[in-house]
Amino acid sequence: MSKQIKTYALHNYLSIPQVSLLPEEMRKEIEVVGRVLPFKTNNYVVEELIDWDNVETDPIFTLNFPRKEMLEKRHYSTMEKLLDQNAAKEEIDKKIQQIRLSLNPNPAGQEHNVPYLGEIKLKGIQHKYPETVLFFPSQGQTCHAYCTFCFRWPQFSGMSGLKFAMKETDLLLKYLKIHKEVTDVLLTGGDPMVMNVSTLGSYIRPLLVPEFNHIHSIRIGTKSLAYWPYRFLTDKDSDDIIHLFEEVVVAGKNLSIQAHFNHPRELSTDAVKDAITRIKSTGAQIRTQSPLLRNINDKPELWTEMWRKQVDLGCIPYYMFIARDTGAKHYFEVPLDKCWQIFRRAYRKVSGLCRTVRGPSMSDDAGKIQVLGVQEIKGDKVFVLRFIQGRNPKWVDIPFFAEYNAKATWFDQLKPAFGDEKFFFEESRTKLERTKPFLFE
Ligand SMILES: *Cc1c(COP(=O)(O)O)cnc(C)c1O
Ligand code: SF4
Repeated sequence: MSKQIKTYALHNYLSIPQVSLLPEEMRKEIEVVGRVLPFKTNNYVVEELIDWDNVETDPIFTLNFPRKEMLEKRHYSTMEKLLDQNAAKEEIDKKIQQIRLSLNPNPAGQEHNVPYLGEIKLKGIQHKYPETVLFFPSQGQTCHAYCTFCFRWPQFSGMSGLKFAMKETDLLLKYLKIHKEVTDVLLTGGDPMVMNVSTLGSYIRPLLVPEFNHIHSIRIGTKSLAYWPYRFLTDKDSDDIIHLFEEVVVAGKNLSIQAHFNHPRELSTDAVKDAITRIKSTGAQIRTQSPLLRNINDKPELWTEMWRKQVDLGCIPYYMFIARDTGAKHYFEVPLDKCWQIFRRAYRKVSGLCRTVRGPSMSDDAGKIQVLGVQEIKGDKVFVLRFIQGRNPKWVDIPFFAEYNAKATWFDQLKPAFGDEKFFFEESRTKLERTKPFLFE
C-alpha cells in the first residue's frame, strides 16, 4: 500500500473526519492548548495508529493531540478567556509567548554544548561528549508529526532565537577535520528524515571520503518509522533513500538509525514492519529509544512488549529516557523511583537480547545520568546513580549516591547522600570551560 502524506495542524485539523465526531469540548481544548504547545499530526497517525474508539485515554492521541491537562489550569483559563473574548492577535501572541517562556523552553543547558571554530560559533552543532558530534541540518528541524511532550518544541513555535540550525556542511566538515577524536556524527533535529534525499545526501556524502576515516559511524535520529514509515516505502524518493543508506554502508561506515518509538502500537502496522525490513536490507542498524511518559507508556508491560517487538523485528533497544523538565512536564513526568520500578519490572521479563537497553537515564547538563536503583545503606535510603555519558569522560561508570526523594523527577531536585556537600563531580564541573567540551586532559 502507498500513502501520500497529509499533515494537519490547528488551521485544518477540523477536516479530519474522526475529529468532527469528537465532543465539542475536546475540540475546544485542542484549540486552546494547541496555541501554546506544538500540534501537528498526519494521515498515517490518524488512520493507522490512533484508537478513535478510546480517544479519551488513547496514548497515541495523547502523543499528537493537545489535551486540556497539558497546560496548567491558570494558563489554560487565561488562554481560554482571551480566545472567547476574541482578543486582538497581538494580545494573544504576547500571552502565548509569555506562557512558553515560563515552560523552560531550552532545558538541560543545551546552549553550553555549542562549539566554536576559531571565532565562529557553530550554531548547528552540539559537541558534548568527545566521540560524538550532533549536527542539526537546518532543513531537518521539523517532524512528520509533533510529540506533545517534545523538548525541542521552541524550534517549531517560531522562537527562532533558540533555533540550533546551520545551512552549510562546510563548517561541520572543517570542524570534523580538526577533531579527530570524533568517531560518530549524529544527524538530528527535529527529524532529518523530513529532508528530501538530495539534501540529506548533501550532508552525508561528504563524510564518506578517506579524509573522514576517523568517522566510523553515521547516526540518524528519527521518529519517521513511528510517524511516517512510508518515508522508506512509497515517497517519491524512497528508493533513493534506500540507495543512500546502501552507499554509506558500502563506504565502510556503520549507519545507525536511532529510532524513536514511544508505544508498542507504533510497531504494529504493516508499513512500519516493511520499512524496518527495507532499512535493514541496506546493512543499516536500527537502535530504539524513548522517554518514559505518564499518560503514554508508564507501565512495565508496555516496555516489555515494546522491547520484545523491537528485537523480533531486528532492532536493538538502546535507551529509556526520563522525561525532560520542559513544556507540559507536569502532565508527562514520572518520579525517578517510579521510573526505575518500571524499568526493572520490564527488564527482568525480557531475554538478554532486549537487555541492550540502558536506563532510565536523565540527559542533564553534566551528562546522561542513569538511575541504577534505590538502596538502603547503613540506614540511609539512597538513589544509586552513574554517568552513562559525562561532560567529563572520567566521571563515566562511577556509582554515586543521592538522598532518596520519592517526589523527585529530575537530577536537579536531588541532594548528595550521607550529608555530603556536593556530588563527586561537582568541583571539576565548575572548572570546565563549557563552550569547549572537547578539551579534556
Ligand atoms: C545521548 C547523546 C549523545 C550520544 O550518546 P551515545 O551514548 O553515544 O549514544 C551525544 N551527544 C549528546 C548531547 C547526547 O545527549
Ligand atoms: S519526533 Fe522528536 S523532535 Fe519531533 S516532535 Fe517528537 S520529540 Fe520532538
